[in-house]
Amino acid sequence: MRVIVATSNPHKVDEIRNILGDCGVELVALGELVRVVDLPEEDGETFLENARKKALHVARATGEPALADDSGLCVDALGGEPGVRSNRFLGDNATPEERNEAILRMLGRTPDEERGARFVCAACIAFPDGRTLEALETCSGVIARRSIGDGGFGYDPIFYVPDLGCTLAQVPQETKNAVSHRGKAMRQVFCLLQETLAAGE
Ligand code: IMP
Repeated sequence: MRVIVATSNPHKVDEIRNILGDCGVELVALGELVRVVDLPEEDGETFLENARKKALHVARATGEPALADDSGLCVDALGGEPGVRSNRFLGDNATPEERNEAILRMLGRTPDEERGARFVCAACIAFPDGRTLEALETCSGVIARRSIGDGGFGYDPIFYVPDLGCTLAQVPQETKNAVSHRGKAMRQVFCLLQETLAAGE
């Protein structure tokens, strides 16, 4: 069975392949298809809405099952922002470093016990007939006092995970995948897919 990964980001496809390992399903990136399939705008109010919209669009356009995710960082002291707008925070042209510096500035001297935050990931597998399988997972942490580490991407250098004793930018990809919102959501939605296939649905 093939599942089309509904993202234009090749890094995300690699990360998902890495998370799922040999799951018995062939993951095909959008860019590997002969036909060009555009992605819809991520204008939903929730992570699940955006993931569902992308997966359904690609499943209907290709006639094959499609997987999409939407993720972001929710900071308690900022009322859950940047949330679903994480990739547009400070505008389309801002760099990850600028976004991280802005969050550190906005939190200022906020004490550690009030620096709680969560990465959230919604994953959706959609079928051409409109059925969907969905998972929503989180990874809890604390916004660090400064950026630390040069691994990972996006908000990883300011996201300190107490259980790991460091930020997500300081650990190997495999360690991050074991605890991350995306790792957990991908494993969960593929578990639902295996159950669906086993039930012959
Ligand atoms: P999207 O799911 O590709 O739309 O990503 C949304 C935004 O959230 C991106 O700009 C990322 O910077 C941020 N983000 C999502 N997941 C992670 C993560 O695992 N680490 C760091 N930043 C993330």
